[in-house]
Amino acid sequence: MAGGIKLFRILGIQISLDYTWFIVFVLFAWSLAYGYFPFHSPGLGAGMYLLMGTISSLLLFVCVLIHELSHSYTANRLGLSIQEITLFIFGGVANLTKEPDDAIVELKIALAGPLASGALAIGFWLIRALIDAELYPVPYAIAGFLVTINIVLLVFNMIPGFPLDGGRVLRAIWWYSTGDINRATRVASQIGKGFAIFLIVTGFLQILVGNFTGGLWSVLIGVFLQQAAEGSYRQLIIKRTLEGIRVRDVMTKNVVTIDGSLSLSRAVEDYFFNYHFVSFPVVDNGRVVGMLSLNNVRSIERDRWQSTLVRDVMEGLTTENVLSPEDTVIDALTRMSSMGVGRFPVVEGGRLVGILSRRDIMKVMEFRTELQGWA
Ligand SMILES: [Zn+2]
Repeated sequence: MAGGIKLFRILGIQISLDYTWFIVFVLFAWSLAYGYFPFHSPGLGAGMYLLMGTISSLLLFVCVLIHELSHSYTANRLGLSIQEITLFIFGGVANLTKEPDDAIVELKIALAGPLASGALAIGFWLIRALIDAELYPVPYAIAGFLVTINIVLLVFNMIPGFPLDGGRVLRAIWWYSTGDINRATRVASQIGKGFAIFLIVTGFLQILVGNFTGGLWSVLIGVFLQQAAEGSYRQLIIKRTLEGIRVRDVMTKNVVTIDGSLSLSRAVEDYFFNYHFVSFPVVDNGRVVGMLSLNNVRSIERDRWQSTLVRDVMEGLTTENVLSPEDTVIDALTRMSSMGVGRFPVVEGGRLVGILSRRDIMKVMEFRTELQGWA
């Protein structure tokens, strides 16, 4: 998942916005202002429609937030820790540090969001019933939109394709009745992908027959869903395969180190050419002080390799680029991906005890995947 913009914290949960949110927000406000509201409450000015579109899109954001918080609040109460939710315009992705290991827990978490959307739809329906449509056409129209959009959120999320809530419900029921979570996940995400393709195809057909806006939305949501189904399935596999494994269990213990006082030309000749690793821990007086990577070497002109010392161009150690043997492999992999680094030194009490590479993690994954029949 790409990062987003951190907004605020509610109930101990960090709320972030995905970057795509802004684009879709503008598109959505625009299509409300030029399509939905002029059709449903004619006779108002263009400026008023724009205002209604903007306010309604913001309120949609609040409704989506309440939907997502219901999932997260339930999850936290059932013992799964959720620290961050990233919101897209029609939904969010909660960062589960751990997958539920009980089908009933999964079912309760999955149903909490749609229940909240249902309650919101009823709430706005009651509010609308109290508003005089003749006197207050604008609040009346906005309340009506919120009834519709919450029903849409409810119905859309209950489509039985993973990672939508309905897909999670299907997965939980399948899992509960067969005990096979792997197969349950695979089936649910295949249905999710199938539905995404259906949306994309019907979207293009709609565009062909002239319904441009409706078709475009269908394609956009289909693409989003397709990526979500693909991505969350892969993530789930990675999480479940690597769950509980610590850096200590998979790191390479015999580490080739470079002395900080060597020249770069010696480092290249004796280490990079010899061992074919992309980086080496650097040791000074028996203590690990940094990492020397091919990129560090490349940043120096070749005719200066003779006169440059390893310790002068290496990457110094920070809390970010060092692992402890007790760190989880999932955490290490997340850091590797976000920092674009392939190898981390493993240090305990200032002493180098091993090195962990992406390749080490992939090997473990492959091995476990074969044993568990994931692939
Ligand atoms: Zn949901």
